[in-house]
Amino acid sequence: MSGHINVLEMAREQLAHAAQYLELDSGLHHVLSRPKRQVIVNFPVVMDNGEVVCFEGFRVQHNTSRGPTKGGIRYHPEVDVDETTALAMWMTWKCAVVNIPYGGAKGSVKVDRKKLSRRELEKLTRRFTSEINLIIGERSDIPAPDIGTDGMVMAWIMDTMSMQAGYTVPGIVTGKPVELGGSEGRVEATGRGVIVATEEAAKYMNLDLGKSRVVVQGFGNVGSVAARIAAQHGATIVGISDARGGIYNPKGLPIEELYHKYSGQDGGIREFKDCEHVSNEELLELDCDVLLPCAISTQLVKENADKIKARLIVEGANGPTTPEADNILSDRGVTVVPDILANAGGVIVSYFEWVQDLQNFFWEELEVNTKLSRIMRRAYTDVHNTREHYKTDMRTAAMIIGVKRVAEATVMRGIFP
Ligand code: NAD
Repeated sequence: MSGHINVLEMAREQLAHAAQYLELDSGLHHVLSRPKRQVIVNFPVVMDNGEVVCFEGFRVQHNTSRGPTKGGIRYHPEVDVDETTALAMWMTWKCAVVNIPYGGAKGSVKVDRKKLSRRELEKLTRRFTSEINLIIGERSDIPAPDIGTDGMVMAWIMDTMSMQAGYTVPGIVTGKPVELGGSEGRVEATGRGVIVATEEAAKYMNLDLGKSRVVVQGFGNVGSVAARIAAQHGATIVGISDARGGIYNPKGLPIEELYHKYSGQDGGIREFKDCEHVSNEELLELDCDVLLPCAISTQLVKENADKIKARLIVEGANGPTTPEADNILSDRGVTVVPDILANAGGVIVSYFEWVQDLQNFFWEELEVNTKLSRIMRRAYTDVHNTREHYKTDMRTAAMIIGVKRVAEATVMRGIFP
């Protein structure tokens, strides 16, 4: 998925950097740089044409010192065990930064979802769930959607686990449809949280979000919600993109129209006429105030970091900036709000969903959004204060908080036996 850049090395480099500030014990550092558990499965699916195809999938749990593990399931043709492990590690720090009682996990299946029929998608999901059911569970490891998966896929996972348990287990996954025990506000939570983080960053930078020009890479769950909410705040969205490429209009794009009439249709957003076509590489370098990378990892790299014009980058995607690009952006005075803080809205509302499922007591959307915003703003302030204290960048500050909380929990619990 990330070309030649090994994202696991990237995640370990970030950990090593935070460990220096914390003077972390070398044994503990070693433990935190490795996953607790990795499961690799190969499983067959009978396709619609009768052919048997074998798929490879992974579930990785990174750390359980602060609670059960939590993390999305990704369906993408280029996933591998290292990338899944890096994503699980980032989930650990993310849950710790926003102080919710989970460790990190991630799952993935090497598959191009677009090439599957709905029936094949369901069969693949149910079989993958059965293959990893030894390690997932509502008290042990709770999956959620990620790239290529959605509420429908979560419903199948929940149903498969429930069939095996003999009763309905809604707390086994989050990101389910509301009708099946999902939470109000979950679908929008990550994008909403990205904009809360953007607002907080803008405050400290004397930037008026309502008057700013915003570029969003990726127009899926996270990117489209972030773009729509930013536009509702008055921002001018000058560029957006999906996997096929981007569109640009310096006067602004009609985000609601693009969302309702173009996205998800054949041809997608690039069928819209009143704009210029740009590649995803060009999109990142467009003239704007705020850049929201909301697609895939390793997009801001050493080759383009000095060409980025935005003053503020808020990472909706996981791992969009490499450590080399981070250094270049930091030297240039660009503020980067890191993924483990910026896109934590999804896991925060997943936590709310899980709490509601365990209690069978459901909240209204306003309550969900208010609590989400409060947690995001508090976490942002913690990271900002830590950044000031250590005179460092936002990513290092967020990592310092996350790693410190996980290390403290590990030490407090002690090592079994
Ligand atoms: P999604 O599948 O709904 O959307 C992904 C978007 O990125 C699509 O518009 C797709 O066309 C685009 N894209 C794919 N490959 C691309 C490429 N090479 N260049 C540019 N665009 C490309 O996925 P999502 O749930 O919106 O997730 C997006 C990112 O946010 C991922 O990095 C994911 O890990 C992260 N994230 C998602 C959540 C969540 O709750 N969904 C939570 C935290 C982080």
